[in-house]
Amino acid sequence: MPEYDFAAQRLYLDLPLAEGAQCDAPAMVHNYLLNVLRLRAGDVIHVFNGKDGEFRARLFDVSRRHVRLGIEALLRTQTAPGGIDYAFAPLKQARLDYMVQKAVEMGAGRLIPVITNRTQARRLNLDRLRANIIEAAEQCGVLVIPEICEPVGLSTYLAGLPARRLLVFCDERAPAGSPNETLTHRAEDAVDGVSLIVGPEGGFDEGERASILKGSNVIRISLGPRILRADTAAVAALAVVQAALGDWRR
Ligand code: SAH
Repeated sequence: MPEYDFAAQRLYLDLPLAEGAQCDAPAMVHNYLLNVLRLRAGDVIHVFNGKDGEFRARLFDVSRRHVRLGIEALLRTQTAPGGIDYAFAPLKQARLDYMVQKAVEMGAGRLIPVITNRTQARRLNLDRLRANIIEAAEQCGVLVIPEICEPVGLSTYLAGLPARRLLVFCDERAPAGSPNETLTHRAEDAVDGVSLIVGPEGGFDEGERASILKGSNVIRISLGPRILRADTAAVAALAVVQAALGDWRR
């Protein structure tokens, strides 16, 4: 397969894609294609749908009202969903948008909003979060579109965890220690995958901490001697988990 062109413009299409197919770009992306990217008939863009891989597509019938695409070569075969579920206490909008985008770039498989006692944002606009997910996937070459789940309460989330899924608990009160050393050699505890949980800006309260630590397959990690903002903790935690247990090892 020729060297992949990561500089190419990428567009997510919620449509079936196959070599030789043709499709109409949804009206909502016309402006983006014609006026933002300033593409014209004959120009090429990379398209993906999160299921069939990524294809070269060529604009071939362009007017103000429609843009027809010819799907050409398969450029990258579809990758499997990320193996790490990222559970987070929703933050205020701007930081939440940022955190969701970084979780996609870091390879999160599913994004699970968990409502804790100190969660600031209890009403979530899931469509907006999904738009952030798609934008992050388009910008950083991710082929899979992580699912954003409906918000759940912490106790419901904990009760729903499979027994053999390892829950990595980012605890700002954890004893000092290298998260990498804590996580390494625990891969055998992650038979049903790995989940990661990060708290709200106000942290977890003592009751929540006790509930999480009561779990049968929980590992508590410190993210260093400084208290990180929750959106910073998201990136730091996903980095150490991907490095010790995830797809950064391959
Ligand atoms: N109560 C503190 C901490 C909240 S930070 C405060 O108000 O500043 C938000 C979340 O990020 C925490 O609940 C935890 O999940 C994670 N976090 C931040 N710093 C961390 C650290 N040094 N070690 C482990 N987790 C951390």
